[in-house]
Amino acid sequence: MPRPLNILFISSEVEPFAKTGGLADVSGALPQTIRQLGHEIRVMLPRYGSINERKARLHDMIRMKEIDIPVGERSFPASVKSSFIANPQVKVQVYLLDNSTLFGRPGLYVHPETKKDFPDNDARFTFFNRGILEVLKKLGWQPDIIHCNDWPTGLVPAYLKTLYKNDPFYKETKTVFTIHNMAYQGTFPHRSFAQTGLPAEQDAESGVIAWGNLNFLKAGLVHADALTTVSEKYAQEIRSSDEYGCGLQALLEKRKHDLTGILNGVDYSVWDPSADELIPQRYDARAMDLKVENKKILLDRLGLPFDERVPVIGIISRLADQKGFDLIGDVLDEMIALKVQLVVLGTGEKKYHDLFEKATKKYPRNIGISLTFNEELAHLIEAGSDMFLMPSRYEPCGLNQIYSLRYGTVPVVRATGGLDDTIEEYHASAGTGTGFKFARYESSEMLKALGRAVKAWGDQNGWRKLMKNGMAKDFSWEASARKYIQLYRSLARK
Ligand code: ADP
Repeated sequence: MPRPLNILFISSEVEPFAKTGGLADVSGALPQTIRQLGHEIRVMLPRYGSINERKARLHDMIRMKEIDIPVGERSFPASVKSSFIANPQVKVQVYLLDNSTLFGRPGLYVHPETKKDFPDNDARFTFFNRGILEVLKKLGWQPDIIHCNDWPTGLVPAYLKTLYKNDPFYKETKTVFTIHNMAYQGTFPHRSFAQTGLPAEQDAESGVIAWGNLNFLKAGLVHADALTTVSEKYAQEIRSSDEYGCGLQALLEKRKHDLTGILNGVDYSVWDPSADELIPQRYDARAMDLKVENKKILLDRLGLPFDERVPVIGIISRLADQKGFDLIGDVLDEMIALKVQLVVLGTGEKKYHDLFEKATKKYPRNIGISLTFNEELAHLIEAGSDMFLMPSRYEPCGLNQIYSLRYGTVPVVRATGGLDDTIEEYHASAGTGTGFKFARYESSEMLKALGRAVKAWGDQNGWRKLMKNGMAKDFSWEASARKYIQLYRSLARK
C-alpha cells in the first residue's frame, strides 16, 4: 500500500465559508472526497470579515502565536483560526488565515457597494500567499503537495521555487496549480512586485511579470510543478488561442506536457432534488411530476403567472461578460416570442443589472429577476425551471449545467469548454442526448438552440425521456478526485 499523502489545498473561496462562484463549490467538495479516499488533506483560505465566527464555528489555534508576514517594507501579523468541512463520513481540517487590516471587511475581492476591486488586493493576496508558507512551518505540518487554485494562490509556487528553495521544511513539497478561469489573472502595477519579496530575476517577462505588470496567475503557471484545468476541452482551448488563453497561450503551449484537464464533479449531497433541503418539493426520476410544484412556487416568488404549457428558462450566474448576456440582450424580444418565461438570479456588472431590470419592466409576465446572491433561490430555480440557459463566451467547466441535469432541468448551452464536455445534443428520433448546444458565439445561433428546445418541449413524452437521460448522468467527484490523487502521486516522492 502506498502511504497516504499530505496535501494542503489553498483557495480564496471555500463553501460554506466564502463564495462568489464555482471555485467555492469545488474547494468545499473535492477535499472531502480526497480525504474519503484515504489522504490527509487540509484546506486554507483567508479569514474574511464576512465569515461569521459562530456560524462557521471558528476556533483560535491555541498553540499558534501571531507571526509577522512581510509584505514589502511593511509586515502584517497573521493568526490562524480553525474549522472543519464535514460530511457523515469525513471531516476535513480548515485553516483560516487572519489579519483584520487586510481581510476584516465584507467582500472577497471587490467592495460590496461600489463593486470596485479593493485597492490593496496586491497586499492582501501577497500576505495570503506568503502567510500560508510561514504558517505551515509554525504548524509543523509538512505537505507533500500544495494544491493551488487560481490567481489568488499564484505566488505560492513562485515562492517555493525561489525564497524557500533551500528551506529543508519544503524540500519535498510539490505544487499543483489548477486554472479555474484564465481571464482573472490578478494583475497589479509593476510597483507591486516589490511587495512580493521575490528575487530580482523574477522581475522579468520570463518570471512573474506580464506586459509590464505583476501577474499572479502567470507566477503560478510558470512555477507550479503541474498545471490542471477543470475540463479537457478548456485545456485545449487555452493553449490554442489568444481569446481563450487571454494572452498567456504561448506559455501554456510550452507547458502542455504538464497541463491536464480534470473535469469538476458535483457534490450530490448538496445538489440532488431527492434530498435537497432548500427546495419545497423533493422529487427524483421516478417522481418527476412533482417537479412542477417547485415551478409554481418559483413563479409565484418572482411574481410571474403559472401556465403549464409555457416552459421556464432558468439562469443563475455571475453577471459578467464571460457568461454571454450580450447574446440575450440582442434577441430578448425573439426569445419571448418563443412563448417562454425567463427567471434570472445573478449579481455583477451594472450593465447587466440594467439589462434585466429593463427586460422585466418590458415583459412583467414573462421575465422574473432577483439581482442578488441567494443560495436558497439558486436551488429553487434549479428545481423549478424546465430549461437552463448558459450561453457562455467561454466556460472552464461550469457547474450549473451539471446541477441542472440532475434536477431534470434541460441545459441549453454554448458548446465551449466544460459545457461541451458535459452536455450531449438531444436527438428526438433516437431519444438520446441531454440538452441543446450551439457552437458559434452568435445570438441567432443561441436562438436556434432555444427554438429546438421549445420544439422538443412540445412533445411531452419525448421531453420526459430527455429529462430522464440527464437525471441518470453521474458526475460525482470520485472519478475526478482519483485523477488528482494520481497526479499528486506522480509528483510526490514515493
Ligand atoms: P462560475 O464559477 O464561473 O461563477 P459555475 O457555473 O462554475 O460558474 O459556478 C457558479 C456557482 O455559483 C454555482 O454554484 C451557482 O449556483 C452559484 N451562483 C452564481 N451566482 C449566484 C447567485 N446570484 N446566487 C446564488 N448562487 C449563485
